[in-house]
Amino acid sequence: CPLDLPRESIVTEDSTPTTMRSLRVAVIGAGAAGLAAARELRREGHAPVVFERAGDVGGTWIYDDQPKPINWAMEMEGGGHSSLYASLRTNLPREVMGFLDFPFAAGPESVDPRRFPRHQEVLRYLQEFARRFHLYGLIRFRTEVTHVVVQGGGGGCKVRVSWRRNAAAAAATEQEEEEYDAVVVCNGHYTEPRIADIPGSESWPGKQMHSHSYRVPDPFRDQVVVIVGAKNSGGDISRDIAGVAKEVHMANRASPAATCERLQGYHNLWLHSMVERAEADGSVVFRDGTSVRAHVILHCTGYKYSFPFLGDGVVSVDDNRIHPLYKHVFVPQLAPHLAFIGLPFKVVPFPLAQLQASWVAGALSGRIQLPSEEEMMEDVRALYSEVEALGWPVRYTHCLKHNQFEYDDWLAEQCGLAGVEDWRKQMYDAACKKKVECPERYREEWDDHHLLEQANHHFQNYSY
Ligand code: FAD
Repeated sequence: CPLDLPRESIVTEDSTPTTMRSLRVAVIGAGAAGLAAARELRREGHAPVVFERAGDVGGTWIYDDQPKPINWAMEMEGGGHSSLYASLRTNLPREVMGFLDFPFAAGPESVDPRRFPRHQEVLRYLQEFARRFHLYGLIRFRTEVTHVVVQGGGGGCKVRVSWRRNAAAAAATEQEEEEYDAVVVCNGHYTEPRIADIPGSESWPGKQMHSHSYRVPDPFRDQVVVIVGAKNSGGDISRDIAGVAKEVHMANRASPAATCERLQGYHNLWLHSMVERAEADGSVVFRDGTSVRAHVILHCTGYKYSFPFLGDGVVSVDDNRIHPLYKHVFVPQLAPHLAFIGLPFKVVPFPLAQLQASWVAGALSGRIQLPSEEEMMEDVRALYSEVEALGWPVRYTHCLKHNQFEYDDWLAEQCGLAGVEDWRKQMYDAACKKKVECPERYREEWDDHHLLEQANHHFQNYSY
C-alpha cells in the first residue's frame, strides 16, 4: 500500500505556499490516540517517533488475562495493564467507533463481525490501521517514557525525552535520552483507578477491588458482591457476575435515594442508590436503608488522569482537571510543543483523537495558527466558568457529553477538514438512547437501519 497522501500545502491569499516546519516529534503511547497522532504527524511532513511500553499497538484493547496485582490491597492500585474484562463488547456500534476515513467494517479478517463486537475485533482493527498506514516502523515497543522536560518556549522549544527499555528488550539499545522539537502525550487514562470514598471501608473485613483488575466472573461464584457505579463497566460487570454470584447489589449515585429494586430478568441482581457506609461486621449499608453482608466491594468508579513522566509545574491535575489546557489539548505557555490527545471523556474516542491529532500536526507545522497565550488562557478560564455554571464538579472539566460533536466540528474547521458525518452523530444518539431504554439487549437489537445504510454507503468511499 502507498503511504498516506500528504496534506496539501496551504496557499495564502497571494498564492504563495506557506513554509511548513517539519519537526521531530515524540509521541507517548501507541493506542488509538498515539496511532492517530503518528499518522497525522507524518502526513503533515513531521518525523514522529512513537514510544510504547507494551509489545504491540492497541493500548486499552490489548487484553491482559493476568492483571499484575493479586492481593486485595494491591488490586486497588493501578498497573500498566489494560482494564478490559474477558466478556467485554463495545458499547458503541462499530460504524460510529471507527476513524473517520478508515471504516471499522466487518470483513473476511474479522474475529467478531457483529455491530458491537468483542474487544478482540477492536484490537484487530487498530492493528490493521497501523499496518495500512505503515506505522509499525515508527514505534519503539517495550519502551517506557520516564521523563519529559520541556525547555524554552515558542519557536525555541526543545523537549528532552528519557526512556527505558523493559526487560524483554533490554539488550537492544543503550540510549536513554533524546532531544525532540515537540512531544504529543497519548498515554491513555484508563489505568489509574479512582476509588469511591466509603465511610468505614478501612475496617470493613471483605475484599475490595477495582474494575481495572476484574477479568472473569468465576472467582465470585456464590458470593455477595456490591458493585459501586452503574455506568458502562458497572452495568456490564454486574450482569457478568450475576450469572454465578449469590447476590449482586449495584449502587448507582444517580438513582433516587430510596431506590432498591430487583432488575428485570434476574433473580439476584439489585439496584440501589449510593452506598452509605461499610461496617466492621461485614455489612454494607445503602442510602435506601437496606444493608447486606457482602464478600466483595467492586469499585467501578472510573479512572484518574496521570502523567508520571511530566515534571512538576508543567500541568497540574486536581480532581481530574488538567490545568491549564487550551481546548483539552495544548498547554498555552508551551503550545504547540506539548500537546495531549484523547483526554476528553463521554465521547467517541477514535474520531476525536484523529481530529485533535490533525490539529496538533497542523499547529506544529505552522499551517494552522493558534491564538496567543493570553487568548488561550482566557478560553481555559471560560471553560471553567461554564463547568461551574452547569453545576458540574471540577472532575467533569474534560467531559464532553453535551458538545462532543460541536468540539469535533470545531477541530475539523481549524484543520480545513469535513466535520463528523450526520449519520454518525445520529447513530451515536440512537445507540445511547437504546442503551438506556434496553440495557440488556441494545447490542443485539436496533432500529437505526436507515443510518446503517447511509454509513455503509459512505464507507464505499474508502477502499482500504
Ligand atoms: P490507550 O488505549 O490507553 O493507549 C495508551 C497507550 O500508551 C498504551 O498502549 C500504554 O501502554 C502507553 N503508555 C502509557 N504510558 C506510557 C509511557 N510512559 N511510555 C510509553 N508508553 C506508555 N471506546 C470506544 O470507542 N468504544 C468502546 O466500546 C469502549 N469501551 C471501553 C471499555 C473499557 C473497559 C475501557 C477502559 C475503555 C473503553 N473505551 C471504549 C475507551 C478506550 O479507552 C478508547 O477507545 C481508546 O482505546 C483510548 O485510546 P488511547 O490511545 O487514548 O489510550
